Amino acid sequence: MSFQTDTIHAGVAPDKAYGAIMTPIYQSSTFVFEDIGKHRGFDYTRSGNPTRQALEDSLASLEGGSFAAAVTSGMAAITTVLHLFTTGDEIICTDDCYGGTARLLKTIQEHFGIKVHFEDLRNHERLESLINSRTRAVWIETPSNPLLNLVDIEAVSTCAKKHGLLSIVDNTFLSPYLQQPFRLGADIVVHSTTKYLNGHSDVIGGALLSCNPELDQKLKYLVNTLGTCAQPFDCWLVLRGIKTLVPRMKEHLYNAQGVAEFLAGHPKVKQVFYPGLASHPQHELARRQQRGFGAMVSFDLDGNIEDVNRVLKGTKLFALAESLGGVESLIEHPATMSHLSMGNEHRQAVGITDSVIRLSIGIEDRDDLIDDLRRALG
Ligand SMILES: *Cc1c(COP(=O)(O)O)cnc(C)c1O
Repeated sequence: MSFQTDTIHAGVAPDKAYGAIMTPIYQSSTFVFEDIGKHRGFDYTRSGNPTRQALEDSLASLEGGSFAAAVTSGMAAITTVLHLFTTGDEIICTDDCYGGTARLLKTIQEHFGIKVHFEDLRNHERLESLINSRTRAVWIETPSNPLLNLVDIEAVSTCAKKHGLLSIVDNTFLSPYLQQPFRLGADIVVHSTTKYLNGHSDVIGGALLSCNPELDQKLKYLVNTLGTCAQPFDCWLVLRGIKTLVPRMKEHLYNAQGVAEFLAGHPKVKQVFYPGLASHPQHELARRQQRGFGAMVSFDLDGNIEDVNRVLKGTKLFALAESLGGVESLIEHPATMSHLSMGNEHRQAVGITDSVIRLSIGIEDRDDLIDDLRRALG
């Protein structure tokens, strides 16, 4: 089946009890046994739940994985995966990753003695020189947040495989519609389903996926043991969001390309970060690795902090808010909002200056969005 058909049908079947076409919300913590040692597939919701199972089957199918777990947040997905590692292990991570991921990795480094190297993975030759006998995994986030740098998943995971390391990809920014890391050699995929997969800014959710039986079993064990599982109602909402993933993404892409081109031609904009522009240094990699260029657009404003604040407060359609991937457009300031937790030093090192503004492009009318930005830029 095509991806688009799978977004509607994978994992879901008419309900066995009454034939409801929409997966029911099984808001129950426990399930009655038919006999001693015999139940109908579910015994306790932390271990498994029919609504969550439908979402997990859908996600596994869309990513091309053999196992998926829906968890309470993107951070819960990352926390769960990090429990694969132990004191003394080393992880190499994209240096401009999501602020919360950087904070968590720094925390586990301090608390549990798992060493984390933050590196620019665009340079994958350098990767080889960082690997030693304690290295266990490479953590990839592409495109990165908020500067939209790309990592070549295939090149990095080939290198990881050669050294017996896991390659883990945070695929939140593109969704499985635009990028499928397992096809490029990744071992584990994580998502914040809060973003494009749900798409309506009304759920915090996450997912982790794998594609080999040994890892599947380990991750399944961890989700159940740690209790990071998502609630049935949240799963139902994400499942509902997934049904419109493809048409939403098409609108997101169309709008983002238009906004990026508008900004690139604006005199008050120093630089636009968007892989869909031919001027993006990794435009060719984006064409090869992704089905589309995504809908996050960042730009460096030619001005001081007052000018930045004027733009942030000047938009009417773009709401001043963190997060991304919803149907409505958002504007935010990484240095004081999404990437505050990264710390000033880390931000400066990766080039997230105080004049960088990040946009999450929604699915409103394209001309309305451009007009709104034109007015705010003045
Ligand atoms: C939002 C986000 C996360 C964290 O997800 P939550 O659902 O907020 O916990 C992780 N990675 C990326 C790339 C994100 O955008």
